[in-house]
Amino acid sequence: MDDFLNHRIVPDFLERMERVISLGGEEIPSFTQIYQKETLINERSNQVEENSDSSFHSEILCIRNAKEELRTRYLTDCLLITSLEPCLMCTGTILLSRIPKVVYLLPAKQGEGISSLSIETIYSRNFFPELICIPAEISKQAFQSFFKIRRKKFN
Ligand SMILES: [Zn+2]
Repeated sequence: MDDFLNHRIVPDFLERMERVISLGGEEIPSFTQIYQKETLINERSNQVEENSDSSFHSEILCIRNAKEELRTRYLTDCLLITSLEPCLMCTGTILLSRIPKVVYLLPAKQGEGISSLSIETIYSRNFFPELICIPAEISKQAFQSFFKIRRKKFN
């Protein structure tokens, strides 16, 4: 699986993400894909602005759609890959969906992402996903330039 992750999933993800970023727009460049074994099940971008709803993160949308597609409540044989480390809202959904592997390309600020859950919290649950951070320049740049543009707009 790790070979497939490095040689197929990550390159494909980066290519798709580049396309999403090139569309520009108002949304944070958050992009998520879910794989079941070696099959891409679903991919989604943020739709927070489009729906004026701060819960419309790409991870939540992607998880919801993947479950619909697979007609299942749990994604126990799936992998989630996303541009930015999942926030605490998405972390809740990831845990409840029992996704065993979460890959992200940019760490969140201390205390804001899935990796900042305490050891006590992790051990108190009988399920916690494996977290893999694969730092990628494209994700860093996408978020940096997104917020630079925004700052200009609001200043
Ligand atoms: Zn989120």
